[in-house]
Amino acid sequence: MALEKYREKRNFKESPEPSGDTKLAAERARKTKGVKPRFFCVQKHLASHLHYDFRLEHDGVLLSWAVPKGPALDPATKRLAMMVEDHPIEYGTFEGVIPSGYGAGIVMLWDAGTWTPEVDDVAAALKKGDLKFTLNGYKLKGSWVLVRTKGKWAGGSDRSWLLIKHRDDWAGDVDITDFAPLSVKSKGDFADILAADNPDIWISHRPASGGEAGAMFEKIIRRALEMRAAPDGGKGAKGAKGATGAKGATGARGAGAKKKATKRRTSPRV
Ligand code: MN
Repeated sequence: MALEKYREKRNFKESPEPSGDTKLAAERARKTKGVKPRFFCVQKHLASHLHYDFRLEHDGVLLSWAVPKGPALDPATKRLAMMVEDHPIEYGTFEGVIPSGYGAGIVMLWDAGTWTPEVDDVAAALKKGDLKFTLNGYKLKGSWVLVRTKGKWAGGSDRSWLLIKHRDDWAGDVDITDFAPLSVKSKGDFADILAADNPDIWISHRPASGGEAGAMFEKIIRRALEMRAAPDGGKGAKGAKGATGAKGATGARGAGAKKKATKRRTSPRV
């Protein structure tokens, strides 16, 4: 495991993301060897497309999967998870605005805690493409599995996996991304993170710079505002535009009452 790919993709003069300390990675790899509960986190990332980055600490780095729809607590709902480059350990507490370049947008620390492998040999499980584990986060708990899939998704890339909840006391049909949409670090939404990072941009709604990056950033600010207006994460609005088809049903299934309940019940927890 190494961070070359991670570093290659980013310009740390422009991005506030951590570059990753190699010594820390080695030290962490040594310290967590044989220790079962390790760090995990999920970052909600509003970039060109909203997605959730699922990260498991292993061997000094954070193994990372981009999950377009986010984790689901319903064992019948398999979520596509595209394996991406390893991220540095320090990324696990990162929350903020990436103004331009790779991953430009807003990163929210959506969940964090520990994960415990349900297998003895994590490296072997990864190689095999079947990793069973238990999560102990604020939002995600209980037994899960990541299974590598071939053919069916994303042109059969070997980077495509499925994230699936196992049936246990922590499984259920509540949509956890709707139910608990906020940050576990700052307790806020994307608009709050944006405001904390650069109030001038937030107040004026104007991009930091012109050109393509500016236009993208403006789009992301608009989306952050839309999401605040629609606490279901803007899914209803997105569905109405025909972008996600069946997802529009989220807005249609008596959303009013559900949204109210969601807001009231999540506020003390997240
Ligand atoms: Mn991402």
